[in-house]
Amino acid sequence: MKLTIVGASGTFPGPHSGCSSYLLEQDGFRLLLDIGNGSTGALQDACGLLGPDAVVISHLHGDHYLDLITYTYARRYHPDGQPPILPVYGPSNVREHVVGAFGRNVDDLLNETFAFHEIDQDQKVAIGPFEVDLRRVVHPVETYGSRISAGGRTLAFSADSGECSTLIDLAKDVDLFLCEASYLDGDDNPPDIHLTGKQAAQFATSADVHRLLLTHLVPWGDAGRTLAEADAAYDGEILVARPLDVYDV
Ligand SMILES: [Zn+2]
Repeated sequence: MKLTIVGASGTFPGPHSGCSSYLLEQDGFRLLLDIGNGSTGALQDACGLLGPDAVVISHLHGDHYLDLITYTYARRYHPDGQPPILPVYGPSNVREHVVGAFGRNVDDLLNETFAFHEIDQDQKVAIGPFEVDLRRVVHPVETYGSRISAGGRTLAFSADSGECSTLIDLAKDVDLFLCEASYLDGDDNPPDIHLTGKQAAQFATSADVHRLLLTHLVPWGDAGRTLAEADAAYDGEILVARPLDVYDV
C-alpha cells in the first residue's frame, strides 16, 4: 500500500501545504482520504487531477472536505472528457453540506459527478481493494477515524480527534499510524477536539504501532516542538507529514 501526502496542514493551509488530504494506492486503485481546502493543487502532482477512484471524508470541517466543491468542476468539465462518477463516502448529510456550500440547486451537477455514500454509524466498507473500518472519534462534529487494510498492510488515520480509546482500537498493531497533532503540550488546549504530539505518541505506544506519522500540525505552531514532545512518549520511528512525501506502508 502506497501513501502519498497530498495536504497535511491543520485548520487552514500553510504557505507550502493544503489542508488534510492523503492518497492511498493499491493494485492501481486510488483512494483519497479527505479533500481539505487547498489540497487539489498538490493532488495534480500526486496522481493527476482525475486520479482518485474514490474519496472518504472523515468529517465535514472545511479543512477536510471543502475542495470537493471546486473539484466538482474539475471532473465535470475536464477537457479530456468526463471521468467515471466518483464514489464519495462521508458523514451523515454530506451531500446537503456540499449543496449548502454551492448555495444553489446543483442536483444535476452533483448527480453527474459524484455518488454519495453516507456513513451514519461505525461501519466497515470495501472500497476497491481496501477494507475500511470507520469508527466515531471525539470531535465537535460527527467524525470518523479509519483503519484501512490492503495487500497485507494496515494504516490507521485518526482524523481529527481528542483523546479516546477508539484511537487505540483503530491503530492496534498497524504498520503506519497517521495521527493528528494539532496542539502543543502545556498550552491551554480545550478538551475533546484535538491531540498534542505527546498524546498522539502515547496512543501510538498504547496501540503498539510500527511507525507514527504526525499530521494536521497548524501553521502557526512549532513542528520541531511537536516532534520533540512526541519523541519523548514513543520509542519507534516518528515522522511529520509533508506534501508529496511518499510512504510504503
Ligand atoms: Zn475538524
